[in-house]
Amino acid sequence: MGDDTTIRREGQIVTGPVPDILLNNGVRIPQFGFGVFQIKPEDTVEATLRAFEAGYRHIDTAEMYGNEAEVGEAVQRSGLPRDEVFITSKLNNGFHEPDAARKAFDETLSKLGVEQIDLFLIHWPLPTRYGGDFVSTWKTLEEFYRDGRARSIGVSNFQSHHLDRLAQETEVVPAVNQIEVHPYLAQGELRRYCAEHQIAVEAWSPIAQGKVLDDPTITAIAEKYGKSAAQIVLRWHIERGDIVFPKSVTPERIRENIAIFDFELDGDDVEAITALDRHERTGPDPDTFDYIPG
Ligand code: NDP
Repeated sequence: MGDDTTIRREGQIVTGPVPDILLNNGVRIPQFGFGVFQIKPEDTVEATLRAFEAGYRHIDTAEMYGNEAEVGEAVQRSGLPRDEVFITSKLNNGFHEPDAARKAFDETLSKLGVEQIDLFLIHWPLPTRYGGDFVSTWKTLEEFYRDGRARSIGVSNFQSHHLDRLAQETEVVPAVNQIEVHPYLAQGELRRYCAEHQIAVEAWSPIAQGKVLDDPTITAIAEKYGKSAAQIVLRWHIERGDIVFPKSVTPERIRENIAIFDFELDGDDVEAITALDRHERTGPDPDTFDYIPG
């Protein structure tokens, strides 16, 4: 998936050169995709179709984002064969109990208009909710994996101690851990843990929602390669082997962000960007985050 695929829309043929990553269960995921967090439902179909036109074949949504139905509509309107688009969604925080998770998963499939999802994640571990029990939630996702309706299952915002607990008490190793990663939060330790346990890392807010783009180290490297700061940061993630899906509703940026597969960064430049790490989150701390939408 992701290589040499073509679509035709409004008379255009677009090709996408994005490499795949092999997950621990043999499923292939395009290393680069499109994130739809904070895209309003009414803008989601158009933005997602723009992404498909530009060559994206991987969409990251969530029940929490309120735009699963519009992602599904865009997939359908694109005319792309279902097996050429990799779709991820996530279980919302209010649905961790097994029966609620089963119902929420049915609704996610129904809103997306698919019979099978490529990847389904627990969105947050919520260790201070549900009596600290995210294990029964994970066992419920294992059901979706075993019955074939989820080609792969994973987690999001899990720290290594949460993952240790799943390893001790459950059977299926998460295929991915989707965590906040960008130059100001390089996540060296947690990424090493995931690598050691064959869990692929997905880097959310890969450009820190724009906050890293004025950094002088990054702008100097951008000038050296003749690329934009966003392209340099996204390429840094690719060189490190993480999966990324920047969000944009701006057509030029949607195209700019995927145009990172015709150059490579020198090792020294990768290290210089990694050295910007300040352990600075833009989002919540997974050990204390307890938000449940009303
Ligand atoms: P990003 O790091 O992708 O940044 C998005 C912001 O950067 C938007 O304001 C966008 O503006 C702007 N932008 C995008 N491209 C460029 C560019 N080339 N130059 C300048 N500015 C640019 O942040 P997100 O938080 O959206 O993270 C990406 C995805 O990660 C989400 O969409 C979601 O799928 C996932 N995510 C998962 C979380 C989780 O808990 N699992 C939490 C947060 C995100 P504009 O749209 O106006 O162009």
